[in-house]
Amino acid sequence: MFVSENLTVNENGHLAAGGIDTVELAEKYGTPLYVMDEQVVRNTLRRFKDSIDKFYGGKGEVHYASKAFSCMEMCRIVNSEGVGLDAVSIGELYTAVKAGFDVSKIGFHGNNKTNEELEYAVSVGVGHIIVDNISELMRLEKIAAEKGVKPAIMFRIKPGIDAHTHNFVKTGQIDSKFGFALETGEAFDAVKQAISCENVELMGLHCHIGSQIFDIAPFEEAARVMLGFIADIKNKLGFEIKGLNLGGGFGIKYLQKDDPSPFETYMERVSKVVKSECERLSIAQPFIFIEPGRSVAAPAGITLYTVGARKEIPNIRTYISVDGGMADSPRYILYGSEYEAVVANKASQDKSETVTIAGKCCESGDLIGENMPLQHAESGDIIAVCATGAYNYSMSSNYNRLQKPAVVFINNGQSRIAVKRETLDDIIRNDV
Ligand SMILES: *Cc1c(COP(=O)(O)O)cnc(C)c1O
Repeated sequence: MFVSENLTVNENGHLAAGGIDTVELAEKYGTPLYVMDEQVVRNTLRRFKDSIDKFYGGKGEVHYASKAFSCMEMCRIVNSEGVGLDAVSIGELYTAVKAGFDVSKIGFHGNNKTNEELEYAVSVGVGHIIVDNISELMRLEKIAAEKGVKPAIMFRIKPGIDAHTHNFVKTGQIDSKFGFALETGEAFDAVKQAISCENVELMGLHCHIGSQIFDIAPFEEAARVMLGFIADIKNKLGFEIKGLNLGGGFGIKYLQKDDPSPFETYMERVSKVVKSECERLSIAQPFIFIEPGRSVAAPAGITLYTVGARKEIPNIRTYISVDGGMADSPRYILYGSEYEAVVANKASQDKSETVTIAGKCCESGDLIGENMPLQHAESGDIIAVCATGAYNYSMSSNYNRLQKPAVVFINNGQSRIAVKRETLDDIIRNDV
């Protein structure tokens, strides 16, 4: 009935998430409010782990891409499931370290890591560092020598794949700021250079072709290209690449019309390519990493808002304004993303209207969505926006000096605060 499977309508006609009345959550914690269903996160992580085990016979590891949604509680949950982490900045890494995350299962990313970030990653002993460019390789080599350590590294490779998704979230094509290009020979030269480095150990290669991808073919093609490169390295340099990270990017259901394949299907089809290509190329099957972000976090989340103004502009549109907007939900203004919304306290009613849900920020583009089917909404109603668990809280800002909402986790009929709502004093905390 709803895009996310944990949503139902309860006996009061209210929207329930994980069996908990969302109208009561809004009353208890205030709005705007991010709500994350712990069971959905755990179930998804288990499904990913199970499919890695099933399709790669234990020779693989899942790393949750924490940029999708990161806070200490999320890190604790991911860690307790035995899943690793992909961190893309010192802030994400620090959050995981402070949450007690098993650092040996952290891959450290970033296309422009600072020396401070590299030094921190080396000093906490992350499992490996995914090196993006030659300047970084040279800086890391020096830092490692100074510290007397030999960190494992992977190289971020642009496999030259055009995944069919929004331009801003494509990352695998040659015109991308991420990683080394294959076609130009840049990646091959970098591998040669890394092999000659004394203070880093080239453990693997990494690719990530984009996000919210529905086609399976680009993933298969990326695996084929990467394995071909691994064979090339073996044949020309006699060097064995032991690890291959195939990235994340699995698409999820935001709207009723979206019909992504379950990620197990991606995993199965890609694993077949990995097996057959390794045989064909006579290379040992590398240890496989995958890095899902959105597919873990998005379906677990909803955002709750309270309706303020309702403006009917005859023959044009009806605006329903809510107490948040682009500061907590930036994906519409960034990518024109669409969502399913529900009036939580009228969830059993028909969606009788088509409205535009607007935020409270001083930008006309500050919308939650345009032309959305919705129950008749009036001032004081609670609106739930579905599948908002990824790239909302993590991309939120204090635009207009709005306070960031709280994050509440729900589990087994209980709710708890994972991130407190910002106070007005938080807004001026660093002002001098
Ligand atoms: C963003 C990102 C991911 C996760 O992508 P999703 O679409 O959220 O699954 C994985 N790996 C890398 C390197 C990324 O940049």
